[in-house]
Amino acid sequence: MEYCKRCVYPANAKPDIIFDEKGVCSGCRLIESRPSIDWKERERWLRELLEEYRRRTREKDRIYDCVIPVSGGKDSHYQTYLMKVVYGMNPLLVTYNHIFNTKLGIRNLTNLIKQFNCDSLRFTSNPETVRKLSRYALKKMGDATWHYHAGIMTFPIQAAVKYKIPLIVWGEEGFSELVGMHKQDDMVEFTKKKRQEHSMRGFEPEDIIEDELAIKEGITKQDLAPFFYPSEEEIAGMGLRGIYLSNYVNWNARKQTEFMIEKYGFETAQERDRTFNLYDKLDDMCANGVHDYLKYLKFGYGRATDDTSTEIRHRRMTREEGIEMVKKHDHVRPRDLDLYLSFIGITEKEFEGIIEHLRDTDIWGKQPNGKWIVKDSVVNHMNDPEVDEVRVPLDPNRKPFMRTKKSNYSRDSHLDENEYIYL
Ligand SMILES: [Zn+2]
Repeated sequence: MEYCKRCVYPANAKPDIIFDEKGVCSGCRLIESRPSIDWKERERWLRELLEEYRRRTREKDRIYDCVIPVSGGKDSHYQTYLMKVVYGMNPLLVTYNHIFNTKLGIRNLTNLIKQFNCDSLRFTSNPETVRKLSRYALKKMGDATWHYHAGIMTFPIQAAVKYKIPLIVWGEEGFSELVGMHKQDDMVEFTKKKRQEHSMRGFEPEDIIEDELAIKEGITKQDLAPFFYPSEEEIAGMGLRGIYLSNYVNWNARKQTEFMIEKYGFETAQERDRTFNLYDKLDDMCANGVHDYLKYLKFGYGRATDDTSTEIRHRRMTREEGIEMVKKHDHVRPRDLDLYLSFIGITEKEFEGIIEHLRDTDIWGKQPNGKWIVKDSVVNHMNDPEVDEVRVPLDPNRKPFMRTKKSNYSRDSHLDENEYIYL
């Protein structure tokens, strides 16, 4: 397997990553290009855009200036801070509740609403719906969390149409950050197609409702209700637009989170199974654990690779330190896997069997005894000859991840199934 000479991404990283002639990936090159952007000018564009939407709200005598899709995580805090405190917008916070909540996630969502004093709207799928959808999506797409992505990418659009709010403010354009899918000058915006291709694995609820396996799992229109995208007429009629703040502000998730911890009470994890990052994706027990473990079982890398690559690009970690983190975390079986398996009612053997055909055989090899082993790892590429040539200097002020004081909410696994999971 080829690995980026600067960060730790493998050539099979998803969505597709490109390596240049120096062996540096498209994600690394994108982050490198960011300082050349005139962020002052971009911020002026943002101010003008927001002023225009505030004016429209006033003219039409409506209440909310924008929708912010939130989970309660670090980016939700920062997006809401920017909109409400810095730019004086009146946002409606909209959440899709996937129901696999952690105590820490519920605590942080409560904190978000309280700190910024915003109205909030939350759609909760019922437990049986989630059970059916997760089991179906695992079998159909090898994805335990299709409903998370479909929900957070669709329900806020439904809410915007229902409440006639023509602006949706997303945080980071995530795929650009990770693998450099779009250039910074593209000023890419949210579209139905982008959501469908990248967040919903190409599946719309209209496809699922007619699918044989979905019918067998008993999936109904009600189960899919929060995932139906509003019609083109509805979207065009109100001129609905979804912008990414990372196109307008020099996005630095780690720095922003530390500001949210210090000023607005955001709480960190104390420890994680599959990464060293204490700030990211704390609200659910599945996306960090099971969803990410699935990525490892399919492609041989996980969240520690994502998080390490980000740290290296932002000059807070050497490639060698990053490789140690990948070695420590990427293969770890998450503790929340047991809770997930018992919730959807399958065994671990069945779970592995379901996704066996999705294993990328460029990285996974099956031994005669039936066990799968990874054929390569970035660990074997620590001393590749070209690494020093493309190295970026470390930030002399780099610091370890902050940990907020221990509280009742500090664990992100081992939940009480009867308590927080359904909130
Ligand atoms: Zn890279």
